[in-house]
Amino acid sequence: MSVAHTRVAVIGGGVVGCAVAHALARRAVEAVLLEVEDALALGASGANSGILHTGFDSTPGELETTLVLRSALLREQLLGELGVRVVRCGASLMPQGEDERAAVGGIAERARSNGVVTQLREDGSLTVPGEAVTDPVAFVHALAGAARAGGAELRLGAQVGGLSGAPGGGLIVRLQTGEQLQVRAAVNCAGLFADEVARLAGEDLVRIYPRKGEFLVFSPPAGEMLERILLPVPSALGKGVLVFPTVDGEIVAGPTAREREDKHDWSVEPDARELILARARRMYPALEDAREVGAYAGLRPAGREANYVIEPSRTLPGLVHVAAIRSTGLSASLGIAEHVVGMLAAQGTIDPGPPRPLPAPAPATSTERWWQRAALHRELAGRGQAPI
Ligand SMILES: Cc1cc2nc3c(=O)[nH]c(=O)nc-3n(C[C@H](O)[C@H](O)[C@H](O)COP(=O)(O)OP(=O)(O)OC[C@H]3O[C@@H](n4cnc5c(N)ncnc54)[C@H](O)[C@@H]3O)c2cc1C
Repeated sequence: MSVAHTRVAVIGGGVVGCAVAHALARRAVEAVLLEVEDALALGASGANSGILHTGFDSTPGELETTLVLRSALLREQLLGELGVRVVRCGASLMPQGEDERAAVGGIAERARSNGVVTQLREDGSLTVPGEAVTDPVAFVHALAGAARAGGAELRLGAQVGGLSGAPGGGLIVRLQTGEQLQVRAAVNCAGLFADEVARLAGEDLVRIYPRKGEFLVFSPPAGEMLERILLPVPSALGKGVLVFPTVDGEIVAGPTAREREDKHDWSVEPDARELILARARRMYPALEDAREVGAYAGLRPAGREANYVIEPSRTLPGLVHVAAIRSTGLSASLGIAEHVVGMLAAQGTIDPGPPRPLPAPAPATSTERWWQRAALHRELAGRGQAPI
């Protein structure tokens, strides 16, 4: 049985794991990223709305808000360096009726507390110029590519199946193949399966369940361009269905929010179309004439009564959990990664150097739209064939 020595193992090749590997490589800390699938970003990170949130509507003071706001500061320069496409289209909320108008006023207040620029207009609408859309799959690949260029090792098809303390200190990470890695530290970024990875260390972390979000993709009607993200006024039931442009010029409506149990069910359910269209057409009537070109679903890694669980393991020193990153992980990933590197440094398990620029990875050559990959994932789900 081979035993390799690497400093930090990052478990999970979604946006959070890749951002952590990138942040480690940027500070010259040796890392190995372990992803069970044959490709990166096949979980929530490749099947979301692709919106880079400013944090305008986040609850002030929460960890999630702090990390979304921090990420917004970090990503401007980094995404440029990495060559990731971003459309800074802004977003708007248009209230219907007095109750919604009051709710929008409250959101504008929240944005002020969070230091995010918004414009509240006479008609009660709110615009948020800093909201943007990106290609979330390219985002993940760019982080991973730069991490690799900075010395990180990326291992696909590598399922972590065991975690324990190493005799002389540090951890042993066991792969399903039987291979063992001896590391100083490990970061659990396993998304929907973060609770199961914690269980490998004998720990009962918050239970993670899939909160399914379905989307419909449209080719814009002739002569119509959707210029910004259209947001509904949030209610007690959640953020609701939005309508937004993609970096490639399509229009997407969604997501739904359904509490589910099956972590492998990526299907778009039969009533999704009706649920989405009823709300989306109210915000964007031109959708009536748009041609539907695809549909996909994502599974949010939601925690039971917990959100943004970022903490050291209670059973295994050197292990850090990054779990229940439910709805804003794409936006917060750079802030999360910086936070995790700070935790590892404070524990004395790593000695990070000053941040250094990493070479930009070669641009992706695929002509496939990112959401097509998510749609394919749905078709192949349950058949044991993950798309590359
Ligand atoms: C419908 C929907 C809409 C969303 N919209 C937005 C948005 O607009 N903006 C935004 O910021 N966020 C959005 N999000 C949230 C965002 O997508 C998530 O917060 C983020 O993707 C979580 O990333 P992750 O890396 O934690 O998880 P994942 O992307 O799920 O990655 C976890 C990885 O771990 C791997 N893994 C699991 N177990 C093991 C193991 N034992 N060994 C090795 N690897 C393992 C998995 O294969 C997976 O690749 C949305 C999410 C959904 C579903």
